Amino acid sequence: MNIIFVAPPAAGKGTQSALLVEKYGVAHISTGDLLRAEVNKGSELGKSLQEKMSTGELIADDIVIDLLKNRLMENDIKKGFILDGFPRNLNQAHMLDEMLEELNMKIDHVLYLDMDKELAMHRALGRMTCPNCGKGYNKYEEIMKPKVDGKCDDCQIDLESRSDDNEETFNTRFDTYLDNTQPLLDYYKEIELLNVIDNSGTPEDTFKKIEEVII
Ligand SMILES: [Zn+2]
Repeated sequence: MNIIFVAPPAAGKGTQSALLVEKYGVAHISTGDLLRAEVNKGSELGKSLQEKMSTGELIADDIVIDLLKNRLMENDIKKGFILDGFPRNLNQAHMLDEMLEELNMKIDHVLYLDMDKELAMHRALGRMTCPNCGKGYNKYEEIMKPKVDGKCDDCQIDLESRSDDNEETFNTRFDTYLDNTQPLLDYYKEIELLNVIDNSGTPEDTFKKIEEVII
C-alpha cells in the first residue's frame, strides 16, 4: 500500500505516519530525511546539497526524484511506503508518476488531513508549559486555561510556549501552504486518488478514518 500524505502545519502527520508504520509495516519516507542522509554520507552529491541547503537554495526536483527512486528500490518497501513532504507541487507530482511507472509502482491513496485553520492554530499555539513544575495548559481551551493569563496557577511564573510561531506567522504559514497545495489536491482528486480525512477529532479518531479509507 503506497500512500502520499498531505497535511497542513500542525495537523499531526507525524503521529499518523508512525501509527501506519507500526500497524502496517510500511516504510516512512521523508524527502527531508533523504537529503540529510545524503549530506551525512559525504558523497559528491551530498557536498553540493549541503552547500545549497546552507544558503537556502532550492534543491532541483530531479535530484530529489533520483534519491527517492533509489530509496524505493530498497528492501523494506515490500509492504509499501508513505511519502511525506513530496510532492509539493504539480510538476513534482508528474515527475513522481513517471518515476513510479519506471519502477512498476503506483500510488494507492493520497491522504489529506483536513482541518480548519483556527483549530490547527489552537493546537499548535495554545499549548503552554510551566518551566518550574511542568504543568501543561492550553490558552485557547476553557478547561485548560491558566487562571491568570500566561501564568502558572501554582507557581505564578510565566508559562512557556512550545511553538516558534505567533498567530500572525502561523496564519501566513497555513494560508501559504493551502495556496500552494490546492493544485496538487485538485490533480489527485481528478485522478481519483484523493481522500480527504476529517482531522478535527482526536488522533485516534483520525487514524480510524484513515483505516476506513486504506483497507
Ligand atoms: Zn508551575
